[in-house]
Order: sequence, then C-alpha cells, then structure tokens
Amino acid sequence: MEITLEDIKAAAERIKGIACRTPLKPAYTLSEKSGRNVWLKMESMQPTGAFKLRGAANAILQLSPAQRQAGVLTMSTGNHGKAIAYVAKKLGMRAVICISEQVPEVKIQGMKKLGVEVRVVGKDQDEADIQARAMAQSEGLRFISAFDDAGVIAGQGTVALEVLEEEPKIDTMIIPLSGGGLMAGMGLAAKSLKPDLQLIGVSMEQGPAMHLSIQAGHLVEVEEKPSLADALTGGIPPDNQYSFPLCQKIVDRSFLVSEESIAEAMAYALRWERIVLEGGAATAIACLDKHLDEIPGQNIALICTGDNVAIPKLIDIYRQQLGA
Ligand SMILES: *Cc1c(COP(=O)(O)O)cnc(C)c1O
Repeated sequence: MEITLEDIKAAAERIKGIACRTPLKPAYTLSEKSGRNVWLKMESMQPTGAFKLRGAANAILQLSPAQRQAGVLTMSTGNHGKAIAYVAKKLGMRAVICISEQVPEVKIQGMKKLGVEVRVVGKDQDEADIQARAMAQSEGLRFISAFDDAGVIAGQGTVALEVLEEEPKIDTMIIPLSGGGLMAGMGLAAKSLKPDLQLIGVSMEQGPAMHLSIQAGHLVEVEEKPSLADALTGGIPPDNQYSFPLCQKIVDRSFLVSEESIAEAMAYALRWERIVLEGGAATAIACLDKHLDEIPGQNIALICTGDNVAIPKLIDIYRQQLGA
C-alpha cells in the first residue's frame, strides 16, 4: 500500500478533536543567532507532549469495530506509548504498552496515569519489539508500530501540512530522525506540496540507526546506547516496509549531533525561547547551531517534537550549561 498526500489530508480531518493544531512560533533569538528566519513548530504542546499523538490517533481511528473492541498493543520508547494510551482512553478501548528497561520513569508514570497496562518486556528496544509483537499475536491485539505503519506515517505527515499552510515560504525543515515515521510522513506531504523544499534529518551520535541505514543503503543494526535524546534511540526491525524506503528517497541531508550539543540546545531553548524540550527535540536546534554552514534555505522550520523530560534532569542540565 502506498501513502499519498490525500491520505495525509484525510488524516488531518480525522484527528481533529484529539491532536491539536500547534503554533509555529517565530524564534527571534535563534533567527538573530543564525542569520536565517527560524520558526519552531511546537509539537511539544500536544496534550501528550509530543507529535506522536497524530499518528496514534490516525491509526486507531481507522481500526474496524472488531479491532477496536479487542484493543491495541504497542512497543514504545515512551511518547508513542503515551499517545496510544491517551487515544485508547479517550475512545474507551483497551491498550497494552510494552516498553524496555531503558525507558525513563517519568514516561512510565505518564502512561500509568492514563490508566493503561504497562509491561516491561526487554532490556532494549529491539528485544522489547520482538516480544511485544509475539504478545499481540497470541492475545489477539492489533500491534501498532511507532513508525512503520501507514496510518501512523500519514498522521505524522499532518505536521508538514500545518507548517506550509501557516508559512508557505518555509524552504527547509529540520526534523529529528529515529524510526523515520515523522520524516516519512512530513517528507511526503512537504515534497508533494513543494518539491524543492529541503528535508534535513538529525539524530544523536549514540546509535543513529536510520542515519547509518540511509548511508549504507540498507538497514544496519546499531548498538543501543543511552542518550539525552532517549526518544531517538533504538533500532529498526528488519521487516520494515514503509519508513526506511521513504526516508531513503526523501531525506536530502542527515546530520548527527553530540550529547554536549543536545544539552546546550535544551538549556538554550529554556533560557532564550522559554520552552521545555526533551533531548530528542532539542537535536533540531543543535543541528542548526552546529551544522549551519551545511544547511540550505533562508526560511527554516525546526520541528520541536516533544517535551517529555524530567524537570530535575532539565534543571541539572540548565545549571551545568549556564553555571546558574
Ligand atoms: C518519536 C520521536 C521522534 C522521532 O520520530 P520517528 O518517527 O521515530 O523518526 C523525535 N522526537 C521525539 C520527541 C519523539 O518522540
């Protein structure tokens, strides 16, 4: 099955009432610093604190009545699980969220608060993914991948529709890249509407599975390492159908950023833009800062993908960075 601009437009209608239309905030301090016009697409302001709500809503709202009745199961680093939990609760459905031992406590608590069943099933994402799929199969629950699902990808694509509706002059988007669902959906929408628009992916240096796979031309396995960008860690299962081939086709440039530059960007966002960003989202600011010379375009949208960071951790980072 192919995903089209029409699917993404249909998703935008479908998810209204669950996911919000988020602001596209002109970032004047970042604009001054970089000499470009920079906007922040505030996906961190979704009710669950991340864009993943769009994909989760679009996928779940397309289930058959029987599938809805049975419920859904997913495996997630946190934000997708939280989004599935939120949508399931809103629709009165059963949801089981499987996570690995790497997922931070703040995200687990967030999901439990939503009243879903959380199962810790593996020491890392790859192990948890295999076990979660097996459980879904044996328990008759629909498995919803965080990034390799046509409904999820079309839902994430709605971010790009909003950005271009708001500011048609945007010519570059910097998009945090992990499993590639966000990049695939946004890229499809953006390139259909504006073929010259440049798509920049950004990942952390610690185990960037999609970045390395795009470079290699095939899926590569990476060792999962802890990172401030915990939402971007984890591998890409070998049965990938959608997100890898799409990313391979549409990503124009892909960059890596260091842990230090992510910490710097989180502190910068808080101090100068007055926004809370988790590490995965702050990679977009770090990318603009560290790779400015290699980034094309005068009108740049940074996708601020999420804000799920523990506040004491953010305060520690702020203090370390600014000596405050
Ligand atoms: C999931 C996520 C990403 C990456 O999205 P993919 O579709 O996996 O590429 C980026 N930032 C945050 C905060 C996320 O939760």
